[in-house]
Amino acid sequence: MSSQSAPFDVAVIGAGVNGAGIAFDAALRGLRVVVLEQNDICSGTSAISSRLIHGGLRYLEYGEIPLVFESLRERILLRRIAAHLVKPIRICIPIYESARRGPLLIRLGMIAYDLLSVRKTVPVHDMLSRDEAIEAEPGLAAEGLRSEARYYDAQVTFAERLVLENLLAARSAGAEVHTYSSVTKINIERGAVSTLEFKDNITGEQKTIAASVVVNAAGPWVDQVLATTARVSPRLIGGTKGSHIVVGPFKGAPKDAFYVEAAADGRPFFIIPWNDQYLIGTTDIRYSGDLNEIRASREEVDYLLSETNRVFPAAQLGREDINYAYAGVRPLPHRQKGPESSITRRHIIRRNRKIARGLISIIGGKLTTYRSLAEQTVDRVGKTLGRRLPDCRTRDALLPGAYRLDEARTVLESLQGLSTKGVQRLLSIYGGRSIDIVELTQSEPSLGKAIDAGETILAAEVVFVIREEMARTLADIVHRRLMIGLAADQGRALYEIVAAIAAAEFAWSDEDRREQLESLRYYSASLRV
Ligand SMILES: Cc1cc2nc3c(=O)[nH]c(=O)nc-3n(C[C@H](O)[C@H](O)[C@H](O)COP(=O)(O)OP(=O)(O)OC[C@H]3O[C@@H](n4cnc5c(N)ncnc54)[C@H](O)[C@@H]3O)c2cc1C
Repeated sequence: MSSQSAPFDVAVIGAGVNGAGIAFDAALRGLRVVVLEQNDICSGTSAISSRLIHGGLRYLEYGEIPLVFESLRERILLRRIAAHLVKPIRICIPIYESARRGPLLIRLGMIAYDLLSVRKTVPVHDMLSRDEAIEAEPGLAAEGLRSEARYYDAQVTFAERLVLENLLAARSAGAEVHTYSSVTKINIERGAVSTLEFKDNITGEQKTIAASVVVNAAGPWVDQVLATTARVSPRLIGGTKGSHIVVGPFKGAPKDAFYVEAAADGRPFFIIPWNDQYLIGTTDIRYSGDLNEIRASREEVDYLLSETNRVFPAAQLGREDINYAYAGVRPLPHRQKGPESSITRRHIIRRNRKIARGLISIIGGKLTTYRSLAEQTVDRVGKTLGRRLPDCRTRDALLPGAYRLDEARTVLESLQGLSTKGVQRLLSIYGGRSIDIVELTQSEPSLGKAIDAGETILAAEVVFVIREEMARTLADIVHRRLMIGLAADQGRALYEIVAAIAAAEFAWSDEDRREQLESLRYYSASLRV
């Protein structure tokens, strides 16, 4: 690829949820799109969230009514267009005597949340007495408990797959996607963006492409991308760090998700049943360190453990109970003063006209609102191009795995050697595209075997994600395609066997395979506390 080839209408920098959504929307409206991502798909902030598709009850406190309304509308849409990935989840808020937010305030919040969710597809909230709350969750701390509110939101267990499916859909609509491709320079000619230089981080090759519009969807790295223009730009991102810990089922663990006010600082945090484990988080701390080396600190881990032990006293969780932890930075708008929690969670689509025409940066944005953010961004791209684009179609466009779900279940259930748990697992990861995996086992029967004792993972999946889902490294396969890297043991028992299948498919040498295993193990270890 070189600057001699025909220019793209739009180059998207970053394959997180926002970049992926923008690429899909733009490609569906007939634009020539290229996506450049420095690592793998969904390897940034989009993979370190609380994985909720939610209205953001807490944002009501800060009067962000339009954001809550937009989020609740998107929750309904995502339940339909990504039905295999986005599921309803019940969330409980226990209200204690010492709480900053009393029953009346919580009740008002619940009513507002229900009202803002027009045509909702989940039940309305209910309020429980103290005794009803303890009967429903016997592990909950009873001392000082006054009552409990319960409401519904939605959860995307594998956000990685949501991002991937947007890019698969974008590719089907004609977009080009280049992973492990770091943008190193945005060139400007006569006041407008002209070309992008990028490096293939696997082959080391330097490449150049031409694009009429550049959308900088680099999340917390937005300012670093702008710096490649060599023009002065005001700081746009003032991120806050958020960490989560992941633990196994513990004594007294709840059946539902809990949203609890922390005793230490009054911030609400989540304890969420997730992927056969519990996802506990998050923290919210201003951050200006290295974006590529973010780890959950000892203080954050201890805070999350002690707050969980307070609400579920039988848990007695210690650091040794943590399977792994993850941390990242919210790409929020830069603001020098005020509490972290009050920084707006609304997204901003900023035209960087002072730097160059045709340059647009995305600030903020939630997992939940990626689709509407993409719609607004592509409308802006159309204006920048001076073209009247077709209307946005992503409200109704099912993501690839949301088709043929019933048929996929029937096909999987008839497969020899795949357990019931395996059927569930494949459906929750690939949805209707599981049918393509089964077809692969028919043309290559050796791939039809399960690779784990529980018969839940097919050998064919490894080959499928390499051929069809842009996986380029062993860590991509394990952590962001087959999702076994997010299991309690991070899938460690399967690394060798997955590496053997991948090596045959990629034609890796023994040394390549060893290096891939080493970097996979290094990555997994980096998530342990
Ligand atoms: C702790 C925490 C919890 C959260 N919980 C929720 C939640 O429960 N629900 C919700 O809706 N939202 C949640 N969010 C918000 C949400 O996760 C993020 O706002 C969203 O994922 C941001 O997506 P993005 O695509 O803008 O950024 P990212 O996902 O970070 O993507 C940006 C991409 O750009 C790439 N990139 C950077 N520089 C370059 C370059 N030079 N060249 C090429 N590529 C580059 C990066 O590698 C990265 O993959 C949470 C956020 C945090 C931090």
